[in-house]
Amino acid sequence: MEYRELGKTGLMVSRLGLGGLPLQRIDAAGTRKILERLMEAGVNYIDTARAYTVSEALLGEGLLGIRDKFILATKSMARTKAEMEKDIDISLKNLKTDYIDLYQVHNPNEAQLETVMAPGGALEVLMEAKEAGKIGHIGVTAHSPKVFEMALSLPWVETIMFPYNIVENQGEEYIRACQEKNIGFIAMKPMAGGNIEDGSLAVRYILANPNVTVAIPGMASVEEVAENTAAANDPSPLTGEEKEKAAAIVKELGTQFCRRCNYCAPCTVGINISSVFLFAGYLRRYDLAGWSKDRYDLQPVKADACIECGACEKRCPYQLPIREMLKKAHRDLEAVKK
Ligand code: SF4
Ligand code: SF4
Repeated sequence: MEYRELGKTGLMVSRLGLGGLPLQRIDAAGTRKILERLMEAGVNYIDTARAYTVSEALLGEGLLGIRDKFILATKSMARTKAEMEKDIDISLKNLKTDYIDLYQVHNPNEAQLETVMAPGGALEVLMEAKEAGKIGHIGVTAHSPKVFEMALSLPWVETIMFPYNIVENQGEEYIRACQEKNIGFIAMKPMAGGNIEDGSLAVRYILANPNVTVAIPGMASVEEVAENTAAANDPSPLTGEEKEKAAAIVKELGTQFCRRCNYCAPCTVGINISSVFLFAGYLRRYDLAGWSKDRYDLQPVKADACIECGACEKRCPYQLPIREMLKKAHRDLEAVKK
């Protein structure tokens, strides 16, 4: 496993890390197994979030006795000092540790990042926690290039996390700037929110960029750990065939696709937006008509219930035309004959 310095934190991290979001699907024993396999493979970086429901707590259980083998990162959507103070303490308790290596401000927009830095903002308590030894370093995660650009100029930002994968390379110039400014760059959404099925290609594509410090695919099974660690351990450049496959994925997905981040939720009338797009995507890309239709039919609220209030579109970090996309998804799914 290759290791890199995580920017100005000075921490030596494996170039492959664990994205802790899908741990929500498994239990503490399963999490422990994954951690043991990661340890054997030399992976030492774990990312989770206050927002990933039970993920922090499962990691806390799983890390008992092996906490010191990992560099632990989490993040919070708190923007004010009081909220962040509470969240840091909850994270420490959930993770059953007295020290978190990296604490990140989770996906702020530009105005929220200003709030974080204003008097009474979350940054005050992050600095205090750093001083007190509760956290080691401070980072920012972002989905918008504008926030990425803003974070690059902030002296307290030691790491930046941003989506980077075969179909989302709009941050490449900023990722290069991270390297120049000695800011650790953490690549999130390596599989574009589950839209890229070839995990091995996805990991190899990201790690081929020397400016990426660490990529953090979500892993919830030992099979995924095996596939991703094998890919990360393969130092050979991408083959012609792999480049062709990557180009085909770009052509297929384009730019307007749902990353299943669920920031658009809740829908005013209860449509499960990301699930509708998942079913429509499987119908289009993998010809899984019966599978997609069956699952769509089980949805308590179908996409045609949309009242076009637009609330979801304001929350989507990718500015997707959700209303139009839902209409098309509904049409395609309803047209399936069983
Ligand atoms: S525009 Fe439609 S999908 Fe979006 S929140 Fe409103 S009702 Fe829900
Ligand atoms: S529609 Fe946008 S906000 Fe909602 S899950 Fe998809 S990418 Fe995320």
